[in-house]
Amino acid sequence: AKPDWLSRALARAGVLPQPEAEEAIREGRVTVNGRQVRQPLAPVPEGAVLRVDGIEVQREPETRVLAFNKPADLLTSTVGQHRTNTVYDVLLPQLPDDLARYTWHAIGRLDRGTTGLLLFTNDEKLVAHATSPETHLPKRYVATVQGTADEEKVEPLRKGVTLEDGPTRPAKVHVRDAHTVEVTVTEGRHHQVKRMLGAVGLPVRALHREAVGGVELDVPESGFRLLTPEEVAQGL
Ligand code: URA
Repeated sequence: AKPDWLSRALARAGVLPQPEAEEAIREGRVTVNGRQVRQPLAPVPEGAVLRVDGIEVQREPETRVLAFNKPADLLTSTVGQHRTNTVYDVLLPQLPDDLARYTWHAIGRLDRGTTGLLLFTNDEKLVAHATSPETHLPKRYVATVQGTADEEKVEPLRKGVTLEDGPTRPAKVHVRDAHTVEVTVTEGRHHQVKRMLGAVGLPVRALHREAVGGVELDVPESGFRLLTPEEVAQGL
């Protein structure tokens, strides 16, 4: 990632609006790692300590998002839980130092047996936003089903079906073949896709997530990739 310039870093940290930050810098009120810097466009090295009038600026780390291809038989736990066989056991040992220093939070969950795209971020606000029931972030799954899938069977899912915890929002459904159904949902209830397909007589034998928002799965199983800021801005 490109370093921020000084006035922008101050504005981003919420200390001063950018024009006022520029003024403060020109007036010699700002230090970078203890040295006065009077150029608003001076690049700020990663991790630098900024002070305005001697007071240290608390900088929020930039939002980072990782795309991970979850294999089967791993739990999606939250970071705080000390359990074995979680996605963190496979993801964390692979991270280079510059990514390992963040605390990673899964954006939503996949069932133990479900494979495919799971996003992680250092930004808890992004987790809250992306998983909020009001956000309706689309998630595309491909299910291998028992029984024979056809248009007639899946049609109710396009309007919404009623599960124990209430009606589902309309889903996009595409029958790829008699045993393979693609389903895009904009909610994230417990076992949702399995329950939806079960409700129309197509029990799920395997489930794989191919996309979340505008992010498509493009890493091999158990692999990960850091998304670009553009992908984060446009995809989530
Ligand atoms: N729906 C499910 O049933 N399981 C998942 O893991 C994700 C969505």
